[in-house]
Amino acid sequence: MTIQNGALAPTGSACLEKVLSRLDKVKAAGAGKWKACCPAHDDRDPSLSIREAEDGKVLLHCWAGCSTSDITAAIGLELRDLFPSSERKGAPRGPSREAKQLEGWILSIGISHIQRGVPMSQADQERFELAKRRLGVQ
Ligand SMILES: [Zn+2]
Repeated sequence: MTIQNGALAPTGSACLEKVLSRLDKVKAAGAGKWKACCPAHDDRDPSLSIREAEDGKVLLHCWAGCSTSDITAAIGLELRDLFPSSERKGAPRGPSREAKQLEGWILSIGISHIQRGVPMSQADQERFELAKRRLGVQ
């Protein structure tokens, strides 16, 4: 077992690519801006504006009034796919640094118990095993 560092978070451009690749009639409309046909309504003239924010977030705006969630749903994405990192919203990918520190701490306490021959309670033993699994320690 190896330590899970978490899947690599997609960069801003990866978010953008994911969105643009699913849209029709994508045209550049300036620096960091695109226009495309809105997938959420019957759109013949591109009326969807796509912008990449400085933090890599993808902003969608349909001039016909479709909501962002309608648009992402129509192209098989979720709102969180518009954000470069899912750490602020939604499920975190992989344990945080703090979580790993805590597991490491629990592990070292367990090991010192074993080394000193101090018996652990059932709950402590289980928590110790869990920390070992989480850290990928055999
Ligand atoms: Zn629309």
